[in-house]
Amino acid sequence: HMPIPLQEVRTTCPYCGVGCGVKATPLGDGGALIEGDADHVASRGRLCVKGSALGETLGLDGRLLYPSMRRDGVMTRASWDEALDTVADGFRRIIAEHGPDAVALYVSGQILTEDYYVANKFMKGYVGSANIDTNSRLCMSSAVAGHKRAFGEDVVPGCYEDFELADAIVLVGSNAAWCHPTLFQRIVKAKEARPELQIVVLDPRRTATCELADLHLPLKPGSDVRLFNGLLAYLAREGAADRDFVAAHTHGLEAALEVAGVDGEVDDVARDCGVDPDQLRAFYELFARTEKVMTAFSMGVNQSSSGTDKVNSIINCHLLTGRIGRPGMGPFSLTGQPNAMGGREVGGLANMLAAHLDLDNAGHRDAVRSFWGAPRIADKPGLKAVDLFRAVEAGKVKAVWIMATNPVVSMPDADQVRRALAACELVVVSDVVANTDVGAYAHVALPALAWGEKDGTVTNSERCISRQRAFLPAPGEARADWQALCEVARRMGFAGFDYDGAHAIFDEHARLSTWKNGEDGYRRAFRLDPLVGIDRAAYDALEPIQWPLRSPTEGTARLFGDGRFSHPDGKARFIAVTPRGPVHAPGGEFPLVLNTGRMRDQWHTMTRTGKSPRLAGHAPEPFVDLHPHDALLAGVREGELARVSSQWGAMVARVAHGGGIARGAVFVPIHWNGQTASDARVGALVNPEVDPVSGEPEFKHTPVRVEPF
Ligand code: SF4
Repeated sequence: HMPIPLQEVRTTCPYCGVGCGVKATPLGDGGALIEGDADHVASRGRLCVKGSALGETLGLDGRLLYPSMRRDGVMTRASWDEALDTVADGFRRIIAEHGPDAVALYVSGQILTEDYYVANKFMKGYVGSANIDTNSRLCMSSAVAGHKRAFGEDVVPGCYEDFELADAIVLVGSNAAWCHPTLFQRIVKAKEARPELQIVVLDPRRTATCELADLHLPLKPGSDVRLFNGLLAYLAREGAADRDFVAAHTHGLEAALEVAGVDGEVDDVARDCGVDPDQLRAFYELFARTEKVMTAFSMGVNQSSSGTDKVNSIINCHLLTGRIGRPGMGPFSLTGQPNAMGGREVGGLANMLAAHLDLDNAGHRDAVRSFWGAPRIADKPGLKAVDLFRAVEAGKVKAVWIMATNPVVSMPDADQVRRALAACELVVVSDVVANTDVGAYAHVALPALAWGEKDGTVTNSERCISRQRAFLPAPGEARADWQALCEVARRMGFAGFDYDGAHAIFDEHARLSTWKNGEDGYRRAFRLDPLVGIDRAAYDALEPIQWPLRSPTEGTARLFGDGRFSHPDGKARFIAVTPRGPVHAPGGEFPLVLNTGRMRDQWHTMTRTGKSPRLAGHAPEPFVDLHPHDALLAGVREGELARVSSQWGAMVARVAHGGGIARGAVFVPIHWNGQTASDARVGALVNPEVDPVSGEPEFKHTPVRVEPF
């Protein structure tokens, strides 16, 4: 490997979707000094506690450093050649015997755009199946589907600066104080500078974010569509509609208003949503009179069996008022993962193609196939995450390659994933960590490069493409995920996988983004034209930039301000959305509703943040937060262990009274994995119901019971 100079390297934080710039200076002993990068547009030098602790997570303890293979039931070290041959032979044989849909890839918002691009090309173009899904399905797929329905393309119209320019910020289902901390710090600063900036939080839970709020509406779980339909009708009634904008740039208002109930009483909406009518009226009035309003939404909206409708109910209100794509206003999807957006750009989901082209459009499929020089192209959507692991258990998918994610912990009905993987003929796991819950089911384990070692790009919540750069040498025999994919592709006889670096993959991705843009009636906003032909040096020097690009150094902060959307006719769509409650109601044996989410100081399944004692101090062990009255009824006491169970599974956690929980609700953090003695995987309890449009599971609403352990 090339020696890595001991000089400061500018890179991007690998945790949340804010995508803060990091300056890392390697210390020569495997560690590094970590600072915020004042020149990064997304963060301006800020880092939250997780980002600041990155230096404490770089040690090689627990790392997967060599390939290994299961022989006589035992994982033993193997050469890369043996491991890659086994994967390629297995995939080839299963495809030959059972067809391309009998194999699958399950990837991650943690991998880089270049890894994602190669994975998608391998599956859709060469294997010929769209069975590639990602843990972004669990995170942002409802936002993707909502954007696509409303705008004709998966586009976040605004940027972070809009939060500073707004006169009102509405946070829906978002604990930004913990989950998007540096963006939240910007909001705090803006509020300090202009106390008249109004902050409204819509969340069943009184989270840390509510401490900044002028108004907190603790709406009933799942009642978001009712609340925003009520707002749509209110805005129309009170004359807050921008009639010119609606007439010139949208379709479908009448149908949306009809469903929303134009003559509805605010009191009725308040009753259905379980909020105070005066507070709801105050929110509606604020929204109606404030031109510069941002509505940011996150997992509380997306992770629902009606997540896509919730997203559209929010966008509808911005379309009606014409408040979109201009400074300080618009709907804004707060992305969960560092590269959930990059994965969407390359089409790394089972129902997408590549470069924002459509899988269900024959012209697009043909264009992508011929661009790739691929022998075939997937012609129907593949299996989305929940269905994918069901198909594995049913024996329909016989080989699955899982990359940078731990579905045994993070999927809903996580014990089903265990059963599926135990029954699967060939499980390949690419990871940076040796002992994981998913690794226990691997037939082949491939060591991947971790943050600080790998090299590529990520795209954050505001469409900003930003480099992750290596500042540490590759340890052991770890390789980039795209390299492992290319090696398997070559062994399967596929041409088109010879890249001499991540820059070459990015160049190909940029070229595909320019395909026939506009000529086919689609006005895709996603385009990277000025970066076509980028060489290694220019790629290494690439500054953070928001797509669509105007020049190699000039991006675009906002889209749709001119009223031109990506649907072929250039108009946005109102979507008529009917409120639907969560699929499973509490009652009987399972009287409480489980809500899951993040903690401030941990990331996902703790494989990295778990290494920092400082971070662990915030919440050292799994807990179940519930209202003292419900604890009394359940016979459990604060500080003691309790068993939490649903019809899908059970776990043990310590009882806490955080104070923010309404009666009838329970909160358990998502982070703890099955490597602890108590096997505290909350995913095992979560119901596997999904949104019919996006396939995103209902993580925020599972009926459970709590009892003494
Ligand atoms: Fe990293 Fe997100 Fe914290 Fe920024 S806010 S330092 S991206 S975890």
